[in-house]
Amino acid sequence: MLSSVIIGGGPGGLGPIIWAAQHGLLPDWLDRGVAVVDRQGHLGGTLGRFGIHSDSLGGSYLECLEAAGLPAELRPLRDEPVAHEMARYRDSFPPLVLVDRYMRHIGVALAGMLAERSALHLCTEAQAIHLRPDGSVEVEITGPDGGANVLAARSAVVALGGRQRWMHGELKPGLTLANCRMREVMPSDRALSTAGLQEADRILADVGRRRILILGGSHSAYSVAGAFLGLAGAERLAEGQIVILQRREPRIFYPDREAAQEDRYDVAPGDICPRTQRVNRMGGLRGFGREMWRQIALRPRAKPEPRVVTMDMQRLGADELGAMIAEAALVVPSFGYRSETLPVFDAGGERLTLNAELGGVAVGEQSRLLLSEGGSLPNLFGIGLGTGYKLPTSMGGEPNFDGQANSLWLYHNDIGAIIYRAIHELERHPAGAAAVAA
Ligand SMILES: Cc1cc2nc3c(=O)[nH]c(=O)nc-3n(C[C@H](O)[C@H](O)[C@H](O)COP(=O)(O)OP(=O)(O)OC[C@H]3O[C@@H](n4cnc5c(N)ncnc54)[C@H](O)[C@@H]3O)c2cc1C
Repeated sequence: MLSSVIIGGGPGGLGPIIWAAQHGLLPDWLDRGVAVVDRQGHLGGTLGRFGIHSDSLGGSYLECLEAAGLPAELRPLRDEPVAHEMARYRDSFPPLVLVDRYMRHIGVALAGMLAERSALHLCTEAQAIHLRPDGSVEVEITGPDGGANVLAARSAVVALGGRQRWMHGELKPGLTLANCRMREVMPSDRALSTAGLQEADRILADVGRRRILILGGSHSAYSVAGAFLGLAGAERLAEGQIVILQRREPRIFYPDREAAQEDRYDVAPGDICPRTQRVNRMGGLRGFGREMWRQIALRPRAKPEPRVVTMDMQRLGADELGAMIAEAALVVPSFGYRSETLPVFDAGGERLTLNAELGGVAVGEQSRLLLSEGGSLPNLFGIGLGTGYKLPTSMGGEPNFDGQANSLWLYHNDIGAIIYRAIHELERHPAGAAAVAA
């Protein structure tokens, strides 16, 4: 029986593997059996669809290849042209297409190791997970030829990426986007993609005096505003024609308190990460989204950007908001992500309801999948975009942070480590999982 099946070979799913690789533990783990399943024909994920820059520094992506424990099979990656290209962005923000290419190169090397020592299933769709009475799991898959198969393991890691839910969330009592008239709507996931930006450019060119309404006040919203301003169609926009409609002011990342003070940013004691002294380390806007905020908020040395304004959604009544949405040339819901899921059945064949299926946080302690009625599944883990893992205080992060930590660095370090250790604990003591499955 395999040690684990990892469903989804994006930056999240590869997290525990990359952590193990950095610490010299990967060959041994692969020899005990790890299968990675992905519906795509490669490992590395889906970041390449976005036409914007990363909000993490290039150096954070390079760190995993610099680790002393890296197995011989992965060391040549350090000298590949894509790693040198990434190194040029060590202290700046690389385009996401480069991050994607870089992750795919790591994916190719890992695929070689998996195929040689363990199991790799590309172009393969995971359909469902079945918990077994002995505490193991079976993952139902459909291969490239349409044939069905089952992978049996002690545990599984669900890392399918994220999805946006924007139609049915209440903006105001009784007001959802599902019951609004809209000329054009494009959720941020689409708006930030290369194809979405081309579409937005066409809309902007013909916008007249109508507004572009971005709903939400976090990373995606500010990234959308910044990306739209870079389009040719945005050149003729008038003052205030792009509106970010937010419920609260975003938090902003600074390397330390002094940098925040220099930028006239008020820092509360709870905004500081005790481990690194950084301000809003987990929840703060970074990269180009942060620069967008600095331009709108007229921070020192930032070029003012009058085409974008922010408005407080709380101050609008439902009718007023509904009218703004109906009149806008384009509405961009930017409400973040929840994690994708797949059906999970208990040992008696009953379908379980995951918390994430109801739009809630996907994982709890040790990144284990949460059930909607409470409790978690001992041998099923979740990692990646939208899972909502709450970092324990030992991992640092600002006490005021109440959002999601979606970061490749965390998947490949702290969160990857948590899952790796829990999986190995299960291998040593499978009885705990059996008791819950029964
Ligand atoms: C616009 C945007 C910008 C971001 N920028 C950054 C950044 O700068 N820095 C950072 O650290 N993080 C960033 N993130 C957050 C996050 O780290 C990335 O989204 C990251 O790529 C998430 O990886 P993932 O593995 O969760 O998802 P994905 O990369 O989407 O991988 C999921 C994988 O699961 C596979 N899959 C899905 N369903 C199935 C199935 N049923 N069977 C088999 N395979 C399946 C898919 O094919 C895919 O390969 C960004 C997110 C977004 C949306």
